[in-house]
Amino acid sequence: MSASTGSRATFSCEACDTPLLKRTSRLQHRHLRSDVWVCQNPLCGATYAGNSELTSIASPSGMPDAPASELPPTPSYTRALLQMQWKLEHGSRQLDMLDAIEFVEASRIDAGGDARPHQAAAP
Ligand SMILES: [Zn+2]
Repeated sequence: MSASTGSRATFSCEACDTPLLKRTSRLQHRHLRSDVWVCQNPLCGATYAGNSELTSIASPSGMPDAPASELPPTPSYTRALLQMQWKLEHGSRQLDMLDAIEFVEASRIDAGGDARPHQAAAP
């Protein structure tokens, strides 16, 4: 029950497949809105009700004094937090992949080798 209007994907009427237009949206809770959708086909006129809900935080605010989110982190955000914590605890003993590439390139220069990246041969 979704259709694409221009660059925005939206729902479509299950009776006539015409894209729906959000007629009203009311805030029920800080993280929950109730929406009413109406079919744009004047001969149909079906209406639908639904909810839009924020369920988790995917990345933190960049604001310096932002309060902590009430929402649980997404799995990828949780993983990033754990990786950051692990790096803080073990960072000085473990090289990052990009640090490792710089280390290898620097080693080549130190050894007198060619440190330029490999390039495809010109046609
Ligand atoms: Zn319709």
